[in-house]
Amino acid sequence: MPDTCTHIAEVDHVKHPRRHVCEECIKTGAQWVHLRTCQTCGVTLCCDSSPNRHASHHARSAHHPVIISAEPGERWLYCYPDDSFAEY
Ligand SMILES: [Zn+2]
Ligand SMILES: [Zn+2]
Ligand SMILES: [Zn+2]
Repeated sequence: MPDTCTHIAEVDHVKHPRRHVCEECIKTGAQWVHLRTCQTCGVTLCCDSSPNRHASHHARSAHHPVIISAEPGERWLYCYPDDSFAEY
């Protein structure tokens, strides 16, 4: 896959969400729009359309570059530092 960055290329087993919730928003009762699962540590957090944007904050602060969509029926990976998408 020539257009895929090295971070996405290193994902050989996709990590799926343990629970279909944002693991930070549920601590404070906050709302989210869509969910993303970190492919480094497996945490599920909310997307950039959500008020708290926990997934992109986590990617920057923990240096975990790649997430998948945790939404049912969506099968794609995204790398934050490279702004790169791939389907799986
Ligand atoms: Zn990358
Ligand atoms: Zn959240
Ligand atoms: Zn992570």
